[in-house]
Amino acid sequence: MEEYDIVVAGAGVAGSLAAASARINGAEKVLLLDRNDIEHAGKKTNWGWVCGDAVAKTHIDFVSKELNLSFGKEIDQKVNGVYVLSPDLSTKFLFEGEGYSLNRPELGRSLVNFAIKKGVEFRGGYEVEGPIIKNSKVVGVFGKDEKKQNFEIYAKIVIDALGIASTLRRKLPQNEFIDREVDIHDIEATGRYIAKVDINDNDLNYYDKDNAIIHLNQELAPGGYGWVFPKTGNRVNIGVGVEKSSLEIRNKKLKKNDNLHSLIDAYVSWNKAIKIREIDQTDNNGKGYWSVSVRRQMESLVIDNYMGAGDSMAMPNPVSAGGIGPAMTAGVLSGKVAADAIINKDTSIDFLWKYNLLYNEKYGSKTGALEVFRIYLQSLSNDVINYGMKNFLTKKEAISLAYGEDVELSLADKFTAFISGLKNISAFKNLLYTVNKMREMNRLYNEYPKSPKEFKDWKNKVNNIIKEVKEKFPPNPI
Ligand SMILES: Cc1cc2nc3c(=O)[nH]c(=O)nc-3n(C[C@H](O)[C@H](O)[C@H](O)COP(=O)(O)OP(=O)(O)OC[C@H]3O[C@@H](n4cnc5c(N)ncnc54)[C@H](O)[C@@H]3O)c2cc1C
Repeated sequence: MEEYDIVVAGAGVAGSLAAASARINGAEKVLLLDRNDIEHAGKKTNWGWVCGDAVAKTHIDFVSKELNLSFGKEIDQKVNGVYVLSPDLSTKFLFEGEGYSLNRPELGRSLVNFAIKKGVEFRGGYEVEGPIIKNSKVVGVFGKDEKKQNFEIYAKIVIDALGIASTLRRKLPQNEFIDREVDIHDIEATGRYIAKVDINDNDLNYYDKDNAIIHLNQELAPGGYGWVFPKTGNRVNIGVGVEKSSLEIRNKKLKKNDNLHSLIDAYVSWNKAIKIREIDQTDNNGKGYWSVSVRRQMESLVIDNYMGAGDSMAMPNPVSAGGIGPAMTAGVLSGKVAADAIINKDTSIDFLWKYNLLYNEKYGSKTGALEVFRIYLQSLSNDVINYGMKNFLTKKEAISLAYGEDVELSLADKFTAFISGLKNISAFKNLLYTVNKMREMNRLYNEYPKSPKEFKDWKNKVNNIIKEVKEKFPPNPI
């Protein structure tokens, strides 16, 4: 019988860092499993390392500092910030702050090699099919090895870093801490091309070699957004994310029959500044489609003997869908707490709970509020978004909202004098409601339970807010 201190399932960003962090923090026997070999570590599907590739410098700095890891070839291009544009392109908000376009295949390989260098055992070709459960507790993982033979590997702690389709989370023992499924409405269908482009026009609303661009537009990207992120060598990462029911409503109203693939092609054609010359097939990573969840992370990230990190725990930011930073943060922190648990010979939920607290403190506490904001945004038509971005908010307020912070809207007391049209008045009132709910959510997350005992009540309160907001704001893109 094979037995390890820690088995990490999935060698993507979260998993490789979790394994490395566990070793660095003192765990002895750490095994990292992935269905892919080292060359293809972190590859999400046959479509490749499907991602927008953008990450804020602050996340990279965190990993560098915590694990003493430096980045070089994994970073493709630096950007100064992100512009978010209204559908009519007349308003744009700049989210300042250095960021990078990553080379995801290089990143995947580097992180696994780093983990191996730190003493992690890596096995590629291992398909994880589920958790081994004894007495209602996770005690290992099972699946098929590289020869397609059944394997069972036991561990004191299993770290689930399998990504959004996690075969571990879905098969956990029934418990009140971690939901096994993600609501379909909280999932964005996304896809992107990495391509060499000709630059036809210097219109910075469409392409900016120094900044990432996000286009809010409920016709081009219902329930999501389109993006153009610059890469080196006149290349771009260009893509679209959509929410399925928003797309259905939009198709019905516009009498169209679009799907994700046709929407990406339409978005590429709509962009008048660039024209694709050639898809960049380096690493066979030129075109790809995959899903990303845009809810708050799972309310708890741990049960007895089990921890989750990255997309398996629905960690991407509910507004931006950025999941690399959260996966990095969670990887570092989960590995640290897991090592501590092994050293202290206590892998119970009570001990592992510290990871919930650390993750919330570092990143997670704002995602409940961000989810509320996202649900509101998805209920707005292009006209209302155009009007709202111009009239409802100062740039500073808009940016605070998009970071999930508490905002006092400066126009709140005099809004009726400013705002024209019934639709806009109701949207503004709804924004006020949203801001209040975001505040309530932030307050709840600031009181995140210090131990599992108080968790059930707290989770109910969070779920009730989300339920209320979803009922108030059904998707209504057109
Ligand atoms: C189109 C798109 C665009 C995105 N754009 C951005 C962006 O610009 N910026 C950003 O920050 N985030 C973005 N994201 C989200 C980001 O890509 C993810 O949040 C991030 O990759 C999560 O890392 P992870 O390690 O948790 O999971 P993953 O990257 O999904 O890694 C999971 C690993 O587990 C392995 N695995 C899966 N199942 C099994 C199994 N059964 N057995 C064995 N191994 C398995 C896989 O091979 C992989 O190595 C985007 C996502 C998509 C889909």
